[in-house]
Amino acid sequence: MSNKNSRLHMRKSNKNIIGCIYFFAFLFLAMIGYMVYFIGWRSDDLMGNSYNPRMEVFNNRFVRGAIISSDGQVLARTEVTDTRKNKDGSDNPDGTYTETRQYPFGRVFAQSVGYSTKGKTGIEALANFYLMESNSNPVIQVANEITEKKSLGDNVIVSLDAGLQQVAYEALGEHNGAVIAVNPKTGEVLAMASKPSFDPNTIVTDWDSIVNDSSSAGPLLNRCTQGLYAPGSTFKIVMALEYIREHPDDYQNFAFNCDGKYRDPADDDYVVHCYSGEVHGAEDLHTAFAYSCNSAFAKIGTLVDKKKLMETADQLLFNQELPIDISSSKSRFTVTEDSGIWTMMQTAIGQGETMMSPLHEVILASAIANKGVLVEPKLLKQVQSSEGNVIKVFEDSAEKQLLTEKEASLLGSFMRSVVTDGTASKLRDAEYAAAGKTGSAEVSKNGETITNAWFTGFAPYDGPEIAVCVVVEEGETGGRTAVPVARAVFDYWLNER
Ligand SMILES: [Zn+2]
Repeated sequence: MSNKNSRLHMRKSNKNIIGCIYFFAFLFLAMIGYMVYFIGWRSDDLMGNSYNPRMEVFNNRFVRGAIISSDGQVLARTEVTDTRKNKDGSDNPDGTYTETRQYPFGRVFAQSVGYSTKGKTGIEALANFYLMESNSNPVIQVANEITEKKSLGDNVIVSLDAGLQQVAYEALGEHNGAVIAVNPKTGEVLAMASKPSFDPNTIVTDWDSIVNDSSSAGPLLNRCTQGLYAPGSTFKIVMALEYIREHPDDYQNFAFNCDGKYRDPADDDYVVHCYSGEVHGAEDLHTAFAYSCNSAFAKIGTLVDKKKLMETADQLLFNQELPIDISSSKSRFTVTEDSGIWTMMQTAIGQGETMMSPLHEVILASAIANKGVLVEPKLLKQVQSSEGNVIKVFEDSAEKQLLTEKEASLLGSFMRSVVTDGTASKLRDAEYAAAGKTGSAEVSKNGETITNAWFTGFAPYDGPEIAVCVVVEEGETGGRTAVPVARAVFDYWLNER
């Protein structure tokens, strides 16, 4: 009897234990299913298309990730304030939930990092897909789902260096203008500063005043990529290349005697003057480039084959989309086979119809620095989960041969002479050997003639680590106003970092 009872009791206990196991197994499977449902549904459906409208759904599921500079500084992050629950876990009926996008560097990165509230621009737009994803710990994600808490989105590491960006931004001083720096070997964009600027932290409240203020000079415009300027004497890089291409064996024999002006015998109505009344005397191509002699280059403008010059401009990416993933403007080159002598004289010194962006200038300097090979500019380096696990490493940039290694080497040596003997003398005593080209483009603004000061170049001359383009609006000459800005950028990157 007692034995029978105890056997029955044991069978009942076994049944209870087995029931428990089934129950927990069911719970476990349900949980796995839940995870598979969310994670699988999310990645399969949406991985392929960053513009999928369903992406907006995730706005409500994940806290937008941070944008982090290559030197580890937070450039954008989302601050969450959640008072819907009391400390003891009970509901707080007066509680609220808010998310605020913060930009710790304010105006310094405004156009390059962009904003994500009034539409999306800059890196906020470029990296939107990754910032809205979350690859944080799936168990924590499920726990967050159950407690109706948002999980943290992934962070995006960009190539911009916060230290260099601050140097570039501050070096522009009170001037409007742009500074863009890239690593010629990797294409990584190291700095991209534009003035005037705006504070992305207060873009919503400031919006009307920014877009309605006709006196403001377009603070939303990223002058590095979207600004178009007459290139002035920086265009002599293109003209020197064209002359070398047409005279590969005897370009050294180019001879010009500068008396401060050039008037073409075939059309003597027009005259080009050297800058500020200078007289450069006897020159070859190399010294005419170093001194930035307008007269010699105006003559070169009349000598080159227009059709071949058009082909060179095409190879150097004029009139086409530039290889960068954020909004940019096409440079403009309008010479045709019918262009007249005066047009060619002006074009040769960058004072004609030609317009270039600082991005385009730095692309040319970068290709010259890198043996003729352009490594396409890129901004994104890595995606990391909120715990810091690497989720994605962006692949190396595509490469494009813009000029031959020999041409790049020759132009590089010309650009080195601009520093050692020519107009970029403010770089002469630097601890590194820099190379570049200055420009002082005279343009009309509200009926007045102003000068936009340029420098585009790279350093060190042997083994370039950085290429930079500077444009300073309403400056003095390139040598006086733009070179010091470039020097601040080179000094920081090569000596002070
Ligand atoms: Zn001259």
